Amino acid sequence: MAYGERGRRRPPVVDLADRRALERYRPADPAVVGEARRLKEAALLDFGLTESAVASWLYAKCHHQIATTAVDTAAVVASGDGTCLLLFNPDFFVRLGLDGVKFVLFHEARHLVHRHLYAEPELRDDPVFELAAEVSINHVALVRLGRTALPTLNGRPTGIDPREVYEAYRADLTAHGLEPVPYETFIATDLRVHGELKRMRHPPVPQRRLCVHLAEGGVPADPETVDAVVSSVLLNSLLAARRGHAGAERELLDLMRRSEDGPARISRIWGNLGAGVLRGDTSRTRTVHWWQRWLVDVLGSKLRDGERLVYPKKRGALLAALGQEPMLARRGPVREKVLVIAYDTSGSMPQHVVTWLTGLVGRIDGVEAHWLSFDTVVMPFAPGERVYGGGGTSFQAVADYVEGRTEVDGRRLDVRPDAVVILTDGYAPAITPAEPEKWIWLITEGGSEWPETHTPAMACHRVPTETPPSGRPG
Ligand SMILES: [Zn+2]
Repeated sequence: MAYGERGRRRPPVVDLADRRALERYRPADPAVVGEARRLKEAALLDFGLTESAVASWLYAKCHHQIATTAVDTAAVVASGDGTCLLLFNPDFFVRLGLDGVKFVLFHEARHLVHRHLYAEPELRDDPVFELAAEVSINHVALVRLGRTALPTLNGRPTGIDPREVYEAYRADLTAHGLEPVPYETFIATDLRVHGELKRMRHPPVPQRRLCVHLAEGGVPADPETVDAVVSSVLLNSLLAARRGHAGAERELLDLMRRSEDGPARISRIWGNLGAGVLRGDTSRTRTVHWWQRWLVDVLGSKLRDGERLVYPKKRGALLAALGQEPMLARRGPVREKVLVIAYDTSGSMPQHVVTWLTGLVGRIDGVEAHWLSFDTVVMPFAPGERVYGGGGTSFQAVADYVEGRTEVDGRRLDVRPDAVVILTDGYAPAITPAEPEKWIWLITEGGSEWPETHTPAMACHRVPTETPPSGRPG
């Protein structure tokens, strides 16, 4: 999906999912690349702080952001191996300047969200819907970024101006004796834009050159990757909103409102995500176990194998149980990932958490799981086995074992974990593991959440001690 492309359309000069080929292709002047990178970073910083939690999270998930002259503008590639790439033409970014770069990056992020929400083939195949998407997305970009006009390039506005399209719509309907709706109604929801454009005798057809993704063999947009990445982005934005990030809350509420007349699938997406909580609408929402969603998302990112993702054996069964769209996918033969789950048995362990974790791990394909219980010493066990513990707690004992320094029953852990999940009340001397980015802390109610404020901070979430009653976020 490439923004505002002008001039002659050309097929991609290299495979747009091939990072090395992209980097090799006619490298731009290093000074221009440096300036373009600076602009991109400044834009993403602004999104994160104030303007768009959704765009901020999306680009956080584009692990590769490549300055390349293989595209004329900018595009987000969702490749079949489960990764997203941001490609930007450095010269294009420098000529656009910061405001223009922000507009383009916001536009591209919204394109992916739009594609996730509106997956119906009859919409996808309708060229008027493509134009409606451009109109909708640019309208939202203008409003959210507080602009009065599209960004300009060489003194000319780039992209599709929603107000110009509206004027063409008004003229067409009036000429044919039909009553156009006011701009505010026309633009109110994504589908309304589409529906009104369809009332035209001669609906405009998007110029193919406007977007690389409109071209045959354009930007790769693997549907599974789009769904996985956007689901994760929406979940993280929602978690931010629940933690009191007002900007994230407004953005999600607006996104929900813009899609509320959409296909039933969309209300299921919002419902499953638990987004109703933002509207104070908990009665109609199913019980939302936030920590479970959070953990699936965090594990999904930590159990990636390079360019691949690990996914549940019974495709979708786990995520359906969680009320989510399938989001982890795995392709081809990959090395097993190693997961350590350690239970602090010095206190009382919430049985429903233990049961759920056992089920979760059992359903993740391609994972070698090591189960440990610990108090001041570490004791491996088999899943489902009863674990016993005594007094005292030592996280250091877990780190020592996980990092291969100590033996248990005469054996060392001879594998290097990709993720370590600790279920604990958090009360024991803090530690700094050798690879803190791999540690995930689940803290029981009333426990200490020190890993979150530790230096370096580690992934940390509270889990409810009791099964939360229906509707109460847990
Ligand atoms: Zn576009």
